[in-house]
Amino acid sequence: MTHYEAALNRLNEALHKIKAFDYSTSMLFWDASTGAPKSGADARSQAIGVLSGFQYQLLINDQMAEDLSVLLENYSELDEMNQVLVSDTKKDYDKLTKIPMEEFQKYNMLISKSAMVWEDAKGKSDFEMFKPYLTEVVDYLLKFADYRGFDGHPYNLYIGDFEDGMTVDQLDVFFAELKARIVPLLSKIAAKNKQIETSFLFEHYPVNLQDELSRDVLKMIGFDLERGQLKESVHPFTMGVDIDDVRLTTHYYENDFSSAFFSTAHEGGHAIYEQNIDKKLQGTPLATGTSNGIHESQSRIYENNFCRSESFLEFLFPILKEKFEIQLEGVSSQMFYEAINRVEPSLIRVEADELTYSLHIMLRYEIELALISRQISVDELPDVWNEKVKAYLGIVPPDDARGVLQDVHWSEGLFGYFPTYALGSAYAAQLAHYMGREIDIEACLADGDFKPLTKWLNEKVHQYGSLKKPNELIEMITGERLNSKYYCDYLELKYSKLYGLN
Ligand SMILES: [Zn+2]
Repeated sequence: MTHYEAALNRLNEALHKIKAFDYSTSMLFWDASTGAPKSGADARSQAIGVLSGFQYQLLINDQMAEDLSVLLENYSELDEMNQVLVSDTKKDYDKLTKIPMEEFQKYNMLISKSAMVWEDAKGKSDFEMFKPYLTEVVDYLLKFADYRGFDGHPYNLYIGDFEDGMTVDQLDVFFAELKARIVPLLSKIAAKNKQIETSFLFEHYPVNLQDELSRDVLKMIGFDLERGQLKESVHPFTMGVDIDDVRLTTHYYENDFSSAFFSTAHEGGHAIYEQNIDKKLQGTPLATGTSNGIHESQSRIYENNFCRSESFLEFLFPILKEKFEIQLEGVSSQMFYEAINRVEPSLIRVEADELTYSLHIMLRYEIELALISRQISVDELPDVWNEKVKAYLGIVPPDDARGVLQDVHWSEGLFGYFPTYALGSAYAAQLAHYMGREIDIEACLADGDFKPLTKWLNEKVHQYGSLKKPNELIEMITGERLNSKYYCDYLELKYSKLYGLN
């Protein structure tokens, strides 16, 4: 065995063990989120602490450092899978070792305090309380960027943590087109003042019937319930612990039809991705979605492009009408479609409709970038926030709780995360455009036949897991990098028709 082959064996063995710890902590998290007694929370978090300690030692040690450097010297000798494993592991290793341990621990303490203060500040709608913490978080992020090193802009590092290879240059172009096309579209919709009835969506929808429907829709879109599980949690999420064990949650509201239905379709998209990764990657760190943005493209394509489409809702409506006869009495398929897709600028991102959602993300991107570029200070944040909400959505937050304090992300140092939500929708539109060249998507949706659509995504996206990086994958499938044109085209076409615009 050559020198580098021995190093490769040790690396794979370590990754295998790390995966086992991942598996265990995931199960504890799943259990905690889906019904474990609250009284066990302390014991659970202690167990997670111990497991994470072992996991850290498996990754950060002298042998690993030596093996990684040997493997990087012999990089060209490795096959594609091992190359990606080595470079991904090196990235994780650097991320954890380039920052001095003592400062990293201080930062972690700051983050847990800051998240607690944020919650309190949000409850009291008091930005002043949160300000010193956020100021310190931003200072740390800039300092850590220097330790870690970056190309071009320090923000590239943070977006890269969630979307490998994405840069400020690419994002600037992306959001500029979004601003130029979606803000005017929203103004036109507002000027039209079309009244859309939605009250029937908020009738009483029994939870057991919603649960049945959620399971039916999962089967319909192609999720294999034999190799997965659906449960209920406060915030819906998906967890792919293994290709053959993918779990997802939804949340039922008795007086709201859409929330659980579209959460299930959304998480179902994430879950189908995790279930259809090539078995040759099973058990390795590559057996998961490649980035936040690509993962989000899979949830959004099922939730929005497919399940909120006119063709699919026309197919679904008679089925719903049978199940919810009283709730949907006097409602037509067209009324139902319009209610599901009504545009209404709102203050809260997580409640936003498909069209205005992207604008919520755009303003967060602009603010994050300005903070990291030191173009604005944390002091100015509430004013900057309110000005942008007014400019893009035409409304003004009455307080900071419904404004700058609404999201947890910044309190936890999660910068660079928000853009991946918008990237997901944009990738979804780009993929759907190219899928449409090979498959009559509307005809499939009108028959409730997702098989050809899911099969296409299996082949083009899912099978690769994390083997291909986002830019590479999108370019491989569509022949070009992220192009916001498809997303803007999709939104313009859909909403111009729905609102009768010219
Ligand atoms: Zn998602």
